[in-house]
Amino acid sequence: MKTVGILGGGQLGLLLALSLSRLGARVVIYDPDSSAPARKVAWKSFQAPWTDLNALKEFAALCDVITYEFENVEISGLKKLDLDGEKPIYPSLSVLATTQDRIFEKQFLQENNLPVAAFFVVQSYDQLAKIEDGITFPCILKTATGGYDGKGQFVFEKRADLVAFIKEKPLPILRAVIEEKLPLYMELSCIVARSADNHECIFPVAQNTHQAQILDTTLMPADIPAALAATVKDIALTAAEKLNLVGLLTCEFFITRERGQSTSSVEVDGYHVFVNEFAPRPHNSGHLTMNATTVSQYDLLARILLDVPMVEPRLLAPGYFCLANLLGDVWLAQGTEEGAKLNLQALKTHVDVVDLVLYGKESARAGRKMGHVVSYGVSAKEAVEAARDARAALGQAVSVRAGAAQ
Ligand code: ADP
Ligand code: MG
Repeated sequence: MKTVGILGGGQLGLLLALSLSRLGARVVIYDPDSSAPARKVAWKSFQAPWTDLNALKEFAALCDVITYEFENVEISGLKKLDLDGEKPIYPSLSVLATTQDRIFEKQFLQENNLPVAAFFVVQSYDQLAKIEDGITFPCILKTATGGYDGKGQFVFEKRADLVAFIKEKPLPILRAVIEEKLPLYMELSCIVARSADNHECIFPVAQNTHQAQILDTTLMPADIPAALAATVKDIALTAAEKLNLVGLLTCEFFITRERGQSTSSVEVDGYHVFVNEFAPRPHNSGHLTMNATTVSQYDLLARILLDVPMVEPRLLAPGYFCLANLLGDVWLAQGTEEGAKLNLQALKTHVDVVDLVLYGKESARAGRKMGHVVSYGVSAKEAVEAARDARAALGQAVSVRAGAAQ
């Protein structure tokens, strides 16, 4: 029996652990948070900081192979253990180093002629002040490391905003990229699975919407022309190959109808395609593969980690599946912060909701990903509306009843 270590024990780790268990593996979770949801389904779990060498050593000693479920894992400790030599870490630490740092990630895109929005690398406030002249607006500054769900991002609509930022110095150390804010037509993502023997599989393209920079809904398959889907898949596969990746690579894309400042965008039938960023792990937009495709992102990663041959994912139905994230806000709207206390009765009348996944997080906070619903529709519009309506109903469930009681 193989033992797989997962660094990070959030919902992605939880769902990966279930797929691993179905293939007979044991799972060990390592997470600094004592209430990480994946602990529930793990054989063993560690609670220690990313930099605790002793704990990392103990963890690694139990594992045959190691992966991670979020890219902000600190790699300094892992590098010291030199695990890459002894126990495989998939994807490799060099892939993690490139994709967890926006400067390296953008440089990788540029060096490999992959399409990316126009950007500058920023290494200090002084240097930013020097290049300020050449920057056009609107633009977005993103810290090189540590950002997720829009954290570590600053939007500058006009030059005065950037000048004020340089004056105020809100971040203790400035290491960032500053990129063109694109007039987005849509956002897409695509997940590639690649095994140690270079076998590649690719999932159908997903179409994403964001609210306050957090993923709000995902539609699978994306409602886009076949030529655009083919281009996006081609770029995702090229990126995975160039990274020499073993594991999953999620590639996020921006699509515009205008060329923008970048000279590297790829055009297909009037759509301009840019790579936004990579995640070398299962992805929120890939939850849908548990419903929409014959094999899920978690199943394929489990197969790669356990050296089981992969199968190409195929769409299961002629229609569309839509995921709507349930953030802590839904709990708060029902007047509770307790994760277990969501009232689900409103789903009774939402017959197109074909799946509900609750991550088992103990406490709900605004913006925290707590679960998701998945709907099925014959058309993209029907699927999206069904998922949004169901979520709205959950958010209203208790407040409506409380109102009626008054
Ligand atoms: P995160 O790591 O938080 O996912 P992203 O770079 O993907 O960071 O940004 C989150 C969201 O913010 C994107 O999905 C998109 O909706 C918006 N965004 C980010 N960069 C740009 C940009 N250059 N132009 C327009 N919108 C952007
Ligand atoms: Mg993103």
